[in-house]
Amino acid sequence: MEKVGVVFGGSRGIGKAVAQLMAEKGYRLAIASRDLEVAKAAARNLGGNHLALRCDVAKEQDIQSAFAEMEKKLGRVNFLVNAAGINRDALLLRTKTEDMISQLHTNLLGSMLTCKAALKNMIQQQGGSIVNIGSVVGLKGNPGQCVYSASKGGLVGFSRSLAKEVARKKIRVNVIAPGLIHTDMTKGMKEEQLKKNIPLGRFGEPSDVAQAVVFLLESPYITGHVLIVDGGLQLVL
Ligand code: NDP
Repeated sequence: MEKVGVVFGGSRGIGKAVAQLMAEKGYRLAIASRDLEVAKAAARNLGGNHLALRCDVAKEQDIQSAFAEMEKKLGRVNFLVNAAGINRDALLLRTKTEDMISQLHTNLLGSMLTCKAALKNMIQQQGGSIVNIGSVVGLKGNPGQCVYSASKGGLVGFSRSLAKEVARKKIRVNVIAPGLIHTDMTKGMKEEQLKKNIPLGRFGEPSDVAQAVVFLLESPYITGHVLIVDGGLQLVL
């Protein structure tokens, strides 16, 4: 079966590293960003002939258009990675409702909608693999990240339920739960202080996560699993 994949959030950070590794492994890819020019640059960077898509995962219409374009230009997509995500960290009492909605829309609803859109093709081809990027805080909780944690914890319940729904169709659904990873999302953080709490003593690199994502994408007998990639952080949280 030809390996055709899409990476939402493939323009930067973890998703970009995932796309790089998938391209090296011979996947034909679509890279999605909210900005088409950014997506084009990311697709070009991969070398080869990959597709660039404009898609805001918080908008269902964008997702439908993206999948229609993929079907036309790439054929059937059998590997889906949901790496698009945002955080609006604040104590709950200081969190604006619009920031709650945007985190839930992007991190949780967005992944639900891309999974739903991808399933049609995967069911027709009797197979597929989905990896959703959660977070260790979705499992353990973290003050200042109530809504973000809820979006990521919700993704676990969603993914495990979907794994049960579609296992008979040979479609697998797994979650990666990263800890603190060097990307734009963690730029402002107090790294020197925070890394003292990480048993392996450092922030992760996007490539550390990418390796685990591709492992789950390609592991034929793993589904409904949550793989923590955090340098041991969950051991002390
Ligand atoms: P970055 O901020 O580096 O990248 C975020 C990515 O998400 C970009 O590619 C961005 O694309 C995309 N994105 C954001 N909002 C939307 C949207 N509405 N529609 C489409 N794409 C969107 O983040 P990371 O690489 O760090 O994060 C990747 C995933 O990993 C996220 O889900 C994040 O929650 C999760 N994670 C990250 C951790 C970390 O320590 N970095 C830890 C645990 C989990 P563009 O701006 O081009 O549209």
